Amino acid sequence: MKNLLWIQGLTCGGNSQSFLCSENPEISDFFKEINLLWHPEISHDTDIMEILNRIYRNEIKLNFLIVEGALTGNKRFHRFGKYSTRYIIDKLKNKVDYIIAVGNCAVHGNYPALYDPDQITGIQFGLNGRKGFLSPKFKTKKGYPVINITGCPVHPEWITKTVLTLSYGIELKLDSFNRPKELYMYLSHDGCTRNEYFEWKVEAEEFGTKEGCLFYELGCRGPVTHAPCNKILWNGRSSKTRAGMPCIGCTEFDFPNRENYLETKKNMGIPQDIPLGVTKRAYIMITGVAKTFKNERLIKKLEETD
Ligand code: SF4
Repeated sequence: MKNLLWIQGLTCGGNSQSFLCSENPEISDFFKEINLLWHPEISHDTDIMEILNRIYRNEIKLNFLIVEGALTGNKRFHRFGKYSTRYIIDKLKNKVDYIIAVGNCAVHGNYPALYDPDQITGIQFGLNGRKGFLSPKFKTKKGYPVINITGCPVHPEWITKTVLTLSYGIELKLDSFNRPKELYMYLSHDGCTRNEYFEWKVEAEEFGTKEGCLFYELGCRGPVTHAPCNKILWNGRSSKTRAGMPCIGCTEFDFPNRENYLETKKNMGIPQDIPLGVTKRAYIMITGVAKTFKNERLIKKLEETD
């Protein structure tokens, strides 16, 4: 069985909470396939220093190192006695098969890095184009860079799918931010139940309603955000946009830079960020046509339609 070690840096623990709620597979079934060496929130009876020392001495083979949380050299935030999370990653980086950064804090520093973006980083990326703790050229002995699973938090299935795919020896294709393509080739817009409203340019009147798209006024980032949130549903049944709240683009590398997540920024009436792959000219023409020809069904409340 492959061994997995989960360590944390500066984190709220949200990715752990999400992971522990995994339903497909159930977390207990996942750990029948993968041997958990240690996790800070569920391994209270296990001595982490003993585990680390046995890995250092090559008595335990480490297959997966999952890191949650941002990294810093500041001693105030050391998590393992006198050792920092950075120190442990440095000691394990040439022993482990795969390093997986789970959540934006481990990927690029996220909210903690806003405090001091030069000192607080992700493992292989920093905030706004800065470098991370490990060199951009770093690869583990299996030939992969740090595999980034972005999100704030990430869906549990994004973690289990990635780990199980690699544990079965299947190649994982990565995008330019080292995220698994199988997950991040989709946009959060793909599979959204509001796509018809988007096409006919019918905006939601308020948050939390069933009708309307949230792109034109209410800040939805679905058409510019790589994430399978409307393909692999949250809790197996929903997503932000299905519940009537905009996608805030938390899987992208420009997160968390925006001032207002619930408002669409515009220039001369046109959204500043238009759907990926569409030119501004095409966008203006298509939305102009959609506005001219109304779809009567879509401007009624769903309950009022036949
Ligand atoms: S609410 Fe967002 S994700 Fe859904 S259709 Fe509109 S723009 Fe796309």
